[in-house]
Amino acid sequence: MATKCNICGNKIAELMLGKLKGTVVKKPSSSKQYYICFECQKKLKTKEEILKKL
Ligand SMILES: [Zn+2]
Repeated sequence: MATKCNICGNKIAELMLGKLKGTVVKKPSSSKQYYICFECQKKLKTKEEILKKL
């Protein structure tokens, strides 16, 4: 199953050993995980910026 970025909807490239080229964040109020691609991670420098876009 391909993982999609929760901000831009692009598929997240998978590196070897199941590592994703990107990051995973959680909102403080929930246990749901959000996947963020490398490109969005680069644009949005902090976790706060990422959470604002979700
Ligand atoms: Zn993205």
